Amino acid sequence: MSFDVINPATEELVRSVELATLAETDAAIARAQAALPAWRAVAPGDRARLLRRFAEAIDADREYLAQLEVTNSGHTIGNARWEAGNARDVVQYYAAAPERLFGRQIPVAGGVNVTFSEPLGVVGVIVPWNFPMPIAAWGFAPALAAGNTVLVKPAELTPLTALRLAELARQAGIPEDVFQVLPGKGSVVGQRFVTHPAVRKVVFTGSTTVGKQIMSGCADQVKRVTLELGGKSANLVFADADLEKAAATAPYGVFDNAGQDCCARSRILVQRSVYDRFMELLEPAVKGVKVGDPGSEDSEMGPLISAAHKEKVASYVPEDAPVAFRGTAPDGPGFWFPPTVLTPSSTQDRSVVEEIFGPVVVVLPFEDEADAVRIANDSEYGLSGSIWTRDVARALRVSRGVEAGNLSVNSHSSVRYWTPFGGFKQSGLGRELGPDAVAAFTETKNVFISTEE
Ligand code: NAP
Ligand code: MG
Repeated sequence: MSFDVINPATEELVRSVELATLAETDAAIARAQAALPAWRAVAPGDRARLLRRFAEAIDADREYLAQLEVTNSGHTIGNARWEAGNARDVVQYYAAAPERLFGRQIPVAGGVNVTFSEPLGVVGVIVPWNFPMPIAAWGFAPALAAGNTVLVKPAELTPLTALRLAELARQAGIPEDVFQVLPGKGSVVGQRFVTHPAVRKVVFTGSTTVGKQIMSGCADQVKRVTLELGGKSANLVFADADLEKAAATAPYGVFDNAGQDCCARSRILVQRSVYDRFMELLEPAVKGVKVGDPGSEDSEMGPLISAAHKEKVASYVPEDAPVAFRGTAPDGPGFWFPPTVLTPSSTQDRSVVEEIFGPVVVVLPFEDEADAVRIANDSEYGLSGSIWTRDVARALRVSRGVEAGNLSVNSHSSVRYWTPFGGFKQSGLGRELGPDAVAAFTETKNVFISTEE
């Protein structure tokens, strides 16, 4: 069976990709398992060198990877270059890990007690379509560094850059069975990672619904699992903030990648005393977002990933939706959707509660600091968020009060490969990136050596 990859900006066929069957998945898992003893025995310095070479290969291929992502995913070329660079940086960062997998020596009576960080075994990484390169790399790079063998299942819609990364790994000298990319259906390949006993850990990024299924499936074998799921993050704008800057940047905090970002600040909460002024400033900012051909250097937003996804996003903006204002989007072929600002009257409206995963944002007023934190936390999600204020003490109080894994003050940044990333509540389980990610791919083994005669 094969899958037709469609360019979301033109609706043209890009390439047909062969999907792995259940039998092929089992064979790949068996190869990954067979490759494990040799890979974990590679000397730390050599494993590090192979990963550095992999990072260099990604770097040399960065423009090709970026163009491939523009074609496959409709990401703007500027974003796609960042994404390829992020994959390179993540591999480079974790290339330093093999020589730093320190254990501990703990004082005990009658001997020596040491800990070892052992690889888990075969790791399965299930990747969504919204950031194909970075999200794959956040899983496979620390997993490989820790001595695991890895299978990556890209999203059916976006397999092309993952397949290219597998070629680059081979060019760099990483053995074929140590790092495999298996395009296929979630219900076949992804599900097999959950049920196959040789796969010792599943790293899943995607919807909360599928994440819950993965978690309950993994329970059967007490399989390790890391989940990065959805979000409905708040952008809190206080009356004392730099309103011009808050309004000018708010569209990019939510409409980046056409809103297909788990960290999208898709609820803008504005203190009532400055609400009208903020909306006046927000309107030109939203209308100014350059939506168009993602391959063009000045485009700021491309299309949605698929026709089906566009339909889902559109369902949040029915005829009678409380639209405050909208930006523009091209006509003609492509899964385009204009940046859209809604002002629902109820905080229980579907558009306020559910993750839309498209360029649709709701704006709601709040009264004071306590009200702001209460509304921000009135969600099953807790991934990211932003706080706009000039009051440092308030910035810290609110940062501590908001139940989310990644917050930014007077900025909308969430992701740095050297800082931890992940969600509270139903936004996920575990953390990726940062100095501790490798620990999520190892088991701690404790050994006591008697010194008695
Ligand atoms: P999804 O269904 O959760 O898919 C994510 C990945 O899981 C894909 O590789 C998918 O494969 C795979 N998968 C699907 N069903 C599976 C199963 N039963 N067992 C194992 N793997 C499985 O997400 P989606 O359908 O692409 O998007 C739906 C919604 O999820 C979005 O609208 C958005 O709200 C949310 N989402 C969140 C993130 C995030 O970063 N947190 C990312 C993407 C989507 P296939 O490609 O074959 O389906
Ligand atoms: Mg799905």
